[in-house]
Amino acid sequence: MNENLNLCIDYIIRFLLRDEKGQYNKYISYGYKEEALIVIIPSDFFESSVYLTGKSFPSLPLTELRGIPVLFGKGKMLEENGKIIIYADIIASTYFLISRYEECIKINDRDIHGRFLAKNSILYQTNNLNKCLVDEYGELLRCLLREKGVNIESCKKAFSHVYLTHDVDNYRTWNSIYSATRSAIKMVMTKQKNFMLPYKAFINYEKNDPIYTFPWLAEIDNDLKDKLSVECKVIYFIMGAQERTKFDNGYAFNVRTTRKLIHSLKPISDIGYHVSYSAKDDLSRCGGEIKVVEELSGENIKLSRNHYLASKEPEDFEILIENGITDDFTMGFADNVGFRLGTCRPVKWINPITMKLTTLTLHPMTAMDATLDGTHYMNIKEEDEAFLIIRKLLEQVKRHNGEVVLLWHNPSVSLQANSYHRKLYSRVLGLLLQMEEE
Ligand SMILES: [Zn+2]
Repeated sequence: MNENLNLCIDYIIRFLLRDEKGQYNKYISYGYKEEALIVIIPSDFFESSVYLTGKSFPSLPLTELRGIPVLFGKGKMLEENGKIIIYADIIASTYFLISRYEECIKINDRDIHGRFLAKNSILYQTNNLNKCLVDEYGELLRCLLREKGVNIESCKKAFSHVYLTHDVDNYRTWNSIYSATRSAIKMVMTKQKNFMLPYKAFINYEKNDPIYTFPWLAEIDNDLKDKLSVECKVIYFIMGAQERTKFDNGYAFNVRTTRKLIHSLKPISDIGYHVSYSAKDDLSRCGGEIKVVEELSGENIKLSRNHYLASKEPEDFEILIENGITDDFTMGFADNVGFRLGTCRPVKWINPITMKLTTLTLHPMTAMDATLDGTHYMNIKEEDEAFLIIRKLLEQVKRHNGEVVLLWHNPSVSLQANSYHRKLYSRVLGLLLQMEEE
């Protein structure tokens, strides 16, 4: 095995065991080792004739180990000479999921925005997207070590972190007197009463623009932050794109108002970089966009998320790393909520092409607003149904001591938005508090 892969395997074993101090990893070996208490028998996944080829995909239906679906190897486990021998390759299964291996191989399975969708993923196809398979593997290993007399604890049943995140795709509906007039005429023609709104919002967007919901978000987010005992962070992802296109608003061109917005958000939140639609198609733009956000905010930018969640790893992640990004929050599927990484815990990204363990931390997104009610996504009409789905995901996160990452956009919580998101968001924040106290 090459040196890069060895480092990845060491990392995976420690990640599964939650073994930050390296106290327990010596008990587990990938392949036979005399000193190990648990031996995981490698499948052929990493063999050079298989890796990165069509042969490296799991065969369906998936095999199971103690009721947990496993992607590679056999669902067999036995005790031999005082050791537990596991024939299910939970190391390759974890590697496959946390590196997003399949997305690098199935490069033709992308939608018109270049995104890999849930429906193309092995997790969705095998009905495992709403489970944290990787965390289940870790829990099983810890349980087996305890059976062998090792004093390793089961994980705490609590959230480890809460991230309330908001992507700012736009913060003004009307940027010019021309666009305000055009909307006003349309409203008169369709007999809408509030046809003066575009003018009022153009003159004072902070007070009158329906999508300028930042004061409301600040109030509700801060209230939760104060009440939760677990660390809770609010992050606003700001665009550095300065050109208006079909998919990017280009608001960073307006330096004065964008800086004003960022400075109003800074006291209560962290500022991250929202990778524009244009930049995901032309990665050379990323560096310049990050600089724009840094100049506007006066801060070094370390956090990122892609607009449209349109990230094409590994190329995008490597560019982000080169530009100083340490933490990315894109990892949720646009079309279905659930655990795209197979875990609800932050994990270091492994580049599947180079097999290199990188410095970039991927944060698993729990749910995004538009995924729930988007007509091309889950298309959930009822707020109660959406709430129940989120509650089930949060129960998984709590069970595995994972982090909660919510993405709600500022327009979706507007009083004028034709959706349940304003109410749903505040209910979900209330639920987080209730679940922490339970
Ligand atoms: Zn966006």
